[in-house]
Amino acid sequence: MTEANYLFDKIFKSNETKEKIFLINESKKLTYIEFHEVVNKISNYLIEIDLSPGDRVAVQAEKNIIQLALYVATIKAGGVYLPLNTGYTLNELEYFFDDAKPKVIVVDDKIQSKIDSIASTSSASILTLNLDESGSLTERIKNYSTKFHAIARSENDLAAILYTSGTTGKSKGAMLSHRNLVSNSEVLRDVWKFSENDVLLHMLPIYHTHGLFVACNLLAIVGGSMIFLEKFDVKEALFWMKGATSMMGVPTFYTRLLASDELNTDTTQHIRLFISGSAPLLSETHIEFERRTGKKILERYGMTETNMNTSNPYDGERKAGTVGIPLPGVEIRVVNEEGHLVEHGKIGTIELKGENVFSGYWGMKEKTKEAFKKDGFFITGDLAQRDEDGYLIIVGRDKDMIISGGLNVYPKEIEDAINEMPNILESAVVGIPHHDFGEAVIAVVVSSDKTLAEIKVLDFLKDKIAKYKQPKRILFLDELPRNTMGKVQKKVLRENYSDLFKN
Ligand code: AMP
Repeated sequence: MTEANYLFDKIFKSNETKEKIFLINESKKLTYIEFHEVVNKISNYLIEIDLSPGDRVAVQAEKNIIQLALYVATIKAGGVYLPLNTGYTLNELEYFFDDAKPKVIVVDDKIQSKIDSIASTSSASILTLNLDESGSLTERIKNYSTKFHAIARSENDLAAILYTSGTTGKSKGAMLSHRNLVSNSEVLRDVWKFSENDVLLHMLPIYHTHGLFVACNLLAIVGGSMIFLEKFDVKEALFWMKGATSMMGVPTFYTRLLASDELNTDTTQHIRLFISGSAPLLSETHIEFERRTGKKILERYGMTETNMNTSNPYDGERKAGTVGIPLPGVEIRVVNEEGHLVEHGKIGTIELKGENVFSGYWGMKEKTKEAFKKDGFFITGDLAQRDEDGYLIIVGRDKDMIISGGLNVYPKEIEDAINEMPNILESAVVGIPHHDFGEAVIAVVVSSDKTLAEIKVLDFLKDKIAKYKQPKRILFLDELPRNTMGKVQKKVLRENYSDLFKN
């Protein structure tokens, strides 16, 4: 009996002999057969350079098809895939390499010499991969065989380590097993009704769970195709949409699309499903997108540590401002500080359990212990309430909650109130040190009216929210600081304004 490689067998194996197009971009089309030939060459090469089961392959490179093949090849060769955000600095890379001790490191040509000089990389094979697919990886695999027999890995073996975005403290490496990834793809295939006929417009980065696992694993498990573009661009998106059936995006994709006159029922007519996640989609965006295109965006909620947890229904009601209901196999509870379930409409922390949930943080036993309750539920740190139908409404991260004068203030409530004001494009509410209140509520606002005065915003809020929740200051910016996944970086705001009340 041949031993199985759980993830490869469940997600990729059935496509090995498919002549159908798997990946399309501006310059090429690749069938599944051609893709698997590249995968096999890379797997053979990885084994040649002594990759053993469980060894990490760390990658920081611009998105391209070879990089996707490298992911599949790492899994097939028994390795653990470790993708890194292209925005990480050398300093940060040093931390990741030191922490994860990868056996193979793949980076852009531009930084290779700097990586060579990092002590913790001395025993790793360092390869390069550039945006245009050039580099030593593509050179070296050239003469390797296009056949490769998958290395045995079972469902509980590690498939990937993804570092969390680290909004507080050091980034932690979330360990995801073959089973974690497969179970989530199977669930999403069923609830979002993906099939071989789907063509996904893929413009997300592939170093994050959204673009890599949610998108690529899902399309591979159904044997569909992907229009695989380097990054999001409104013009490109509107052009390629005509040949796609589905699109996955972060909220900024949708707000940018809405800013184009060309977004209408015609340009979007072939898309059966627009999906949004990774950051909150404003209700206005959801509503306006439907008005312009006739399509209701489906919002879902997930995390690096857990893959996807909830989704608005495919057939049932998709409610703006909510992340929907638990996915099959995911148990979710919303609890207060004492660990008791909160009533509908009350705010608590989301805790969850399921085959989608990671096993722990790489090399951090204590942090892993702190992240789980005794009964195995993972403490997400996300604050939410349930509406009367059980749909979850995320109100923020617990670390973002503000305690002002001993009272809890949930930023989302204040942001929602501010966003109702005419000409306000977006807002972020944070707490900063205050000599009297402990923390003071401030709001950072982006307005299309550049003459808007602070006092006007404060006046607008006066009768809308309780006094203790009202911002002590309103600050104006041209845009909010966001990371590549569209998340507002509240940490940056807190740091930038930390001295506001110091005297
Ligand atoms: P990451 O691990 O980078 O994927 O970030 C996960 C976090 O993103 C979650 O814990 C949530 O705080 C946030 N998030 C993901 N999806 C949504 C969503 N649909 N609405 C609001 N927040 C979200």
